[in-house]
Amino acid sequence: MNLDDIYSEIILEHSRSKKNRKTIKNPTVTLKGVNPSCGDDISLELIIDDGKIIDGSFSGEGCAISQASTSIMLDLIRGKSLKDIKELLEIYIDMIVNKEEDSEKLDKLEDAIAFQNISNMPARVKCALLSWRTLEEEIK
Ligand code: ZN
Repeated sequence: MNLDDIYSEIILEHSRSKKNRKTIKNPTVTLKGVNPSCGDDISLELIIDDGKIIDGSFSGEGCAISQASTSIMLDLIRGKSLKDIKELLEIYIDMIVNKEEDSEKLDKLEDAIAFQNISNMPARVKCALLSWRTLEEEIK
């Protein structure tokens, strides 16, 4: 199994996972993101307290890339400070948009590194960025 296969596996697994696909009680914010070019439509619910994202979930529909990247993002940011999350969002967006390859930075992305190859698939870039840009808009 090569790295691409492992990455595909991670994406597929997360796109099917129900773990982060739910509603949470009394979210601090609800954020909507749409990507009309693909039909991706997501709604993020977050509980933010004392400068941290305590919990998060999402609902929505769309392609495997958009749904998996949202689920992976939620796993990554849960329990982290907004300051750390801002840095992670920057690294991820840089990886996709500018092909950032600094392994020390990319290691911080954990499973989200599975989307590295999307930088070579222009048609899917918006799918992979949808939830990350939506969150960035809110916390920047
Ligand atoms: Zn899509």
